[in-house]
Amino acid sequence: MKELPGASLQKACRLLVVFCVLHLSAVLFYYLAGSSTRSLQGNPEPSPRGLAPPRRETTPTLRPANVSRQCPDPSPRLVGPLRIEFSQTVNMKKVEEENSNVRNGGRYTPKDCIALQKVAIIIPFRNRDEHLKYWLYYLHPILQRQQLDYGIYVINQGGDETFNRAKLLNIGFTEALKEYDYNCFVFSDVDLIPMDDRNTYKCYEQPRHLSVSMDKFGFRLPYNQYFGGVSALSKVQFEKINGFPNNYWGWGGEDDDIYNRLVFKGMGISRPDATIGKCRMIHHSRDNKNEPNPQRFNKIAHTKETMNLDGLNSLSYTVLNTERFPLYTKITVDVGSPKS
Ligand code: BGC
Repeated sequence: MKELPGASLQKACRLLVVFCVLHLSAVLFYYLAGSSTRSLQGNPEPSPRGLAPPRRETTPTLRPANVSRQCPDPSPRLVGPLRIEFSQTVNMKKVEEENSNVRNGGRYTPKDCIALQKVAIIIPFRNRDEHLKYWLYYLHPILQRQQLDYGIYVINQGGDETFNRAKLLNIGFTEALKEYDYNCFVFSDVDLIPMDDRNTYKCYEQPRHLSVSMDKFGFRLPYNQYFGGVSALSKVQFEKINGFPNNYWGWGGEDDDIYNRLVFKGMGISRPDATIGKCRMIHHSRDNKNEPNPQRFNKIAHTKETMNLDGLNSLSYTVLNTERFPLYTKITVDVGSPKS
């Protein structure tokens, strides 16, 4: 039978439509394949100034020798906002079991990629074992998802002299470096837990303030210069300011002094935004021997003159005991007294 002229035109049009659909599908397929490769590669931040480029480990780790790929930045394992609460008691045995890939003393190294930074986490401490359990319970999984090569150092002030937070932090910096060539130091109070794992506990081009949005302060900064709670400084940044002051005894002021030091050395503060920087503080009454320091206002006013004389270059202390627990290293120290 003879085909009508309209019918062959229809056939040609149908063929053209099929061709176009095939072509579009192919374009879409290649576009999507390309973008997923791009997002897997991530969008790396510029390497922080002052941080040595990531190098291979100098001490043995559990990572297979054939891993040569750097961990992506940000880590693809992050989950974002976290539910943090302190109503249940923590069973340490269970926490240890759940973190079985953490090495004795609280060391962890990612197995499938090379971490961008080697981070020592320093916690000033005295008589806060309950808080430490919460901290370990929440932070170990977060730090592993952040793919950091990290170690946890709890610096315990021995004796019952007035507490000296900043000196304990200087000691933590010094002692951690004796163990491993850390290039970043996170200084964290034991009672502060981040509420979002995108708040990475690592160092940046400028000193980083991490606890920017605390429940205690209504999820905002109490004042713009506030640098307390949790902060991160690269080794180079820390050494540039001669470390932290050693002579703030009792509560308050040392974090303001640290802020002043950074500014006087020409640095600025980097911060996550108020959502990512949310964190919870475990409620507690004021510790004994940590009363507000009445001298703090006078001291803060003189940072410029004191910072080159008081700090890493004048640090003296005695290590009384070093204990390696499965999830942290506890170093008990004699920090002396305000009179010494
Ligand atoms: C103190 C700081 C403290 C801040 C927030 C200031 O008056 O000097 O050390 O972190 O208050 O509580």
